[in-house]
Amino acid sequence: MRENERADYLIVGSGLSALVFGALMAKDGKTVYILEAHEYPGGFGHTFTMAKKYHFNAQLHYVWDCGEGNTVNRVLKQLGLDKNITFERYDLNGFDHMHIPGYSLEIPSASDELAKQLSALFPEHTSHIQGFIQAVQKVRQGLKCLSPPMRPQLLLKQLPVALSASPLWQHTPDVFDEYQLPEAAQTLLALQWPDFLLPPEQLSFYAWVILFTGYQEGAYYPTQHFEHVINSLVGSIEENGGKVLTDTEVTEFLVERRTVKGVKAIDRRSHETCVFWGDRIICNIDPKKAASMIGLHKFSPSVQRKLDYDYSPSNFMAYCAVKDLDLREYGFGPWNTFHSEDVDLNAAFKRMYEENDFSRPSFAITTPTLLTTAKRDYPEDCQILEFLTVANYRYFDELQKRDRKAYNRKKEEILETILNIVERDYMPNIREHLVFRITGSLTTNERFCRCPQGNS
Ligand SMILES: Cc1cc2nc3c(=O)[nH]c(=O)nc-3n(C[C@H](O)[C@H](O)[C@H](O)COP(=O)(O)OP(=O)(O)OC[C@H]3O[C@@H](n4cnc5c(N)ncnc54)[C@H](O)[C@@H]3O)c2cc1C
Repeated sequence: MRENERADYLIVGSGLSALVFGALMAKDGKTVYILEAHEYPGGFGHTFTMAKKYHFNAQLHYVWDCGEGNTVNRVLKQLGLDKNITFERYDLNGFDHMHIPGYSLEIPSASDELAKQLSALFPEHTSHIQGFIQAVQKVRQGLKCLSPPMRPQLLLKQLPVALSASPLWQHTPDVFDEYQLPEAAQTLLALQWPDFLLPPEQLSFYAWVILFTGYQEGAYYPTQHFEHVINSLVGSIEENGGKVLTDTEVTEFLVERRTVKGVKAIDRRSHETCVFWGDRIICNIDPKKAASMIGLHKFSPSVQRKLDYDYSPSNFMAYCAVKDLDLREYGFGPWNTFHSEDVDLNAAFKRMYEENDFSRPSFAITTPTLLTTAKRDYPEDCQILEFLTVANYRYFDELQKRDRKAYNRKKEEILETILNIVERDYMPNIREHLVFRITGSLTTNERFCRCPQGNS
């Protein structure tokens, strides 16, 4: 068994949070070791390469808070990486393009423009729409006071105003209804449900406001793709004497007198067992999973109660490459596309998630190669296209264990249905140009991101 020198910070898992925290500590002169089970660092944000030439990011599509003075920018400045990691803004006139039967809406950054466009679609509801947009802005202002740096005076002033616009516990459709928005307008506004992997009826209005207005204020994509962000953070840790050890799976937490002091890990390449010690151990893996490895009985009843949470739903993904076809000529560009065959998103979600029926799906389309002009070693004339929707873990897990072929067929069936819709509504000839396709379910997430039940 190999023993390693002691680190100031020993971090389990190399998700984005671990890499950012590790980079900040390493820059501050601390010894940082990060242990990652997968062959790539980055967790949900890792990039993988297929057929030696197509690069796909596992889950990240767009990020907010990257503008000058915002959180991401401030952290990158602190790390001296703000000139190296830059971001491209999604189209300000429409960062999310929404399509449902009978209606389309391009969500603009400016709220007054959004009110104008919605009013043009639903002229008899203009005053309701304006009232709703004003309420969203009020809530947004209030919520901003809760994000760091906190200013107590502002908090006292803004938060009651925000709370008066909508009580904390309300779900999104309740607020939509309160402002008498017509069903189709509600659907267009809630169509980025795949960002939450929750249907509107289960989504807190506050969560919706944070995401919707967060992207309105700036939806960004890294100029040199997410892989460069991850690699730069890893590089920063290593330049400052730290280590990010991939293919190193933590199998045991070493506890002395009620405190985790170190971990045992397997080097997945050499199969050697290694021991790592740290003055502080940081867990960037699922807390419930880590606690069960440590022994749930070792935690106080109140912590045990906190650990007794359900896992969130997660997603079906299809990663594709098209050749000799410019997606820009078919309505794609620096934006995401959200599509639903059903105006009732709660019903669409239920059908897919609870009944595993994808015949009338609601899904997202992303086109990462259109989000930046930076060159990358993609084959010439190829563009990347990704599809995402919700899926049920238990169903896919059982299917995979029972009948591997049926599992693959189900994934293919979902992609085929989506491709039929894409051919019907967007690109009549997409199948002729599809040179690569691979599908992933929640069990894929579980395998590669090591998230229990493939949760998001
Ligand atoms: C479908 C989907 C879409 C998303 N889209 C976006 C988006 O567009 N924009 C956005 O900002 N966010 C998005 N997110 C959220 C974002 O990806 C995550 O919030 C973020 O990446 C999570 O980072 P994390 O630091 O919590 O760790 P994780 O990414 O969960 O990383 C945990 C790491 O721990 C490792 N690990 C687990 N067990 C062990 C072990 N025993 N030993 C060693 N290592 C271990 C895993 O392999 C993994 O690398 C999306 C998420 C999903 C699921």
